[in-house]
Amino acid sequence: MPVYEFRCGNCGERVEMLVRSFEEQEFPCPFCKGNSLKRVMSAFAYHRSEGDRLAGLDTHRPHDADYYRDDRNIGLWAKKRMKELGFDPGKEFDGVIEKTREKVADELGG
Ligand SMILES: [Zn+2]
Repeated sequence: MPVYEFRCGNCGERVEMLVRSFEEQEFPCPFCKGNSLKRVMSAFAYHRSEGDRLAGLDTHRPHDADYYRDDRNIGLWAKKRMKELGFDPGKEFDGVIEKTREKVADELGG
């Protein structure tokens, strides 16, 4: 289950929560009880954990839709596969992945 970071638009507090799906983001802020929590794309958390995600990713097994609901997983498969084949995807590919993740997050209402 992915951990997402939220920021309250009401009191400005940051909250980290386990979220099963994008539909379950409707919960009140634990600090002010307001309903203004917005998901934050945490660049720091993402960069810290991508190595672990890559290491734990089996490119020979298919992943179900739930796996890709965590938009940080999008592009990891392609990236790892390229590295396995001895090809360095480079910084440009990171940019492509980033755009794809943003697009998916938009479409899912994230
Ligand atoms: Zn709040």
